[in-house]
Amino acid sequence: MMPESIPQTLGRLRDFFATGKTRDVDFRIAQLKKLKEGIRKYEPEIMASLYDDMHKPPFEAYASEIGILYTEIDHIIRHLHSWSRPRRVATPVIHFLSRSRIYHDPYGVVLIISPWNYPFQLTIAPLIGAIAAGNCVLIKPSEFSSSTSATIEKMMTELFASDYVAVFQGETEATKKLLEEKFDYIFFTGSTAVGRVIMSAAARHLTPVTLELGGKSPTIVDEDVDLNYGIKRIAWGKFFNAGQTCIAPDYVLVHRKIKDSFIEKIVGTLHSFYGENPMMSPDYARIINERHFNRLLQLMKSGWVIYGGNSQRKDLYIAPTIIDQVSPNDPVMQEEIFGPILPLVEYNDIEEAIAFVNQRPRPLALYCFSKNKKIQNRILRETSAGGGCINDTISHIGSQELPFGGIGESGMGAYHGKASFNTFTHQRGILFRSNLLDISLRYPPYRDRVSLLQLLFRFIR
Ligand code: NAD
Repeated sequence: MMPESIPQTLGRLRDFFATGKTRDVDFRIAQLKKLKEGIRKYEPEIMASLYDDMHKPPFEAYASEIGILYTEIDHIIRHLHSWSRPRRVATPVIHFLSRSRIYHDPYGVVLIISPWNYPFQLTIAPLIGAIAAGNCVLIKPSEFSSSTSATIEKMMTELFASDYVAVFQGETEATKKLLEEKFDYIFFTGSTAVGRVIMSAAARHLTPVTLELGGKSPTIVDEDVDLNYGIKRIAWGKFFNAGQTCIAPDYVLVHRKIKDSFIEKIVGTLHSFYGENPMMSPDYARIINERHFNRLLQLMKSGWVIYGGNSQRKDLYIAPTIIDQVSPNDPVMQEEIFGPILPLVEYNDIEEAIAFVNQRPRPLALYCFSKNKKIQNRILRETSAGGGCINDTISHIGSQELPFGGIGESGMGAYHGKASFNTFTHQRGILFRSNLLDISLRYPPYRDRVSLLQLLFRFIR
C-alpha cells in the first residue's frame, strides 16, 4: 500500500465495520480460527523470515513467536461468547424498576504498530485481541524486520479481505502520514521515545491508545537465593534473542555476599548454554542491524567486562557479555540496553536495592530471586513495575491469565487473554427505564424539593 492510498484503505475499513458483520461473535471466532490455520500453514516461512532478520534460533522463534499465539487464540475462542455477552449489573434503588446492562462494543478501526524484536508475535497478538473484540485493523509492522514484515503482509492478504485487515509498510516518514489520519484506537509497541510521538499524534484526534513500551527491567538477587536455578533463569531470560527482549533483565542488582558465586556460576552457565564460542552456537541470535550493533559496542565500554565482550561486525554478532564495576552514571546504566550485555550492580541490603529501583523510571518488568517470602513481599509492596516474576524471568509474558503491560514510562494499558478483549472493547453502560411508572419529582419546576432530595440521598444506597 502506498502512502497516497491510506485514506482510501481507511475508508474501506470503515465501510466494512459499518456493515456490522464484525459484531457477530461467530464471525470473529471464524476469523480467529482462520488466523490460527494461516499461522500453521505459514510456520516454515515465518521461521525462515525470523532467521533471515536476526538469526533467530528456531526453538526461540517457535516458543516466543508462534506457540504462544496458538494458546492465546485457543484461550480467547474458548471464552469469547461469555466475554461478549451483555452483562447484567445491579441497579441503584434510585432507579427503581429499571435494569442495567454493560454492552461490549468494538471501537471500529484500530491501528497496530509493532517493533522488530518479536516482529511476528508482537503484531499478531494484538491483532487477535482486535479481531476478538470485533474491530477492523490496519497493521504497521517494523521496517527493520523486513523479511518478517513481508511475510506478515503476504499472510494477511491471503487470509483476510483488505477491507477487514490491511497492512501498511513504511518507514518513519510514511508512518507519520499514517498518524495524521483518525483511528478509533491505536495499539503501539515500541520505544518510550516513539511512544511519546504516538501519544501526541493520537491526542489530536482524542484517539485512545495502548502503549507497550520499554525501559530498564531490574533483577534483584537476594543473598537467600537458589543460585543453581536462579542463574539459569536469569541467563536464559537475558540472552534469549540476544537480549533484544523488552522484558529481558536489563541489569542485575546482586547482594554483596553472593556476588562472587553469582559470577562464577553465570560464567559456567553461559558455557553450558552456548559452548566455547557462542558465535558458532545455533541457539544464539544476532543483532538486528548495524545501528544497534554500534550502539551496543559503545555500551560495552562501561565498567569492566568479565565475560564475553567480543563481536563480529559482518555477522552482527555480539557475545553474551557480563560487565562488573559499573557506575549508575555509565551509559550502560542510562539507557535500555536491548542487547546481550548484562551489568552487575552490587548492593548491601534490600533497602538499598529497592531505593535503586525506585530512583529510576518504573520498569516494564521487575524480577526478584529470593527464597525469603518477606523479601519477596517487600519488593512487591515497595516497588512499582508493569509486571514480572518471582524466581524467574520473562515467563509471565506466556500466561493468558496475566495482563501484560507497562506503567509510567514503560507504558499504559495491557493485553493478553481477557485483558486483550477489554483493551479493544468499549464498555457501554445502558440503563433500561421502565414505562410502568414515571416519578414526576425529577422534572422542573423543582420548587422547594432540595430538602426532599437531601433526605432521599441520606437513606438511599
Ligand atoms: P521503535 O519505537 O523505534 O519502533 C516501533 C515502531 O514504531 C516501528 O514500527 C517503527 O516503524 C515505528 N516508528 C518509529 N519511529 C516512528 C515515528 N517517529 N513515528 C511513527 N512511528 C514510528 O521501537 P523498536 O526499535 O522497533 O523496538 C524496540 C523498543 O520497543 C524497545 O524500547 C523495547 O523495549 C520496546 N518493546 C516493548 C515491548 C512491550 O511489549 N512493552 C515489546 C517489544 C519491544
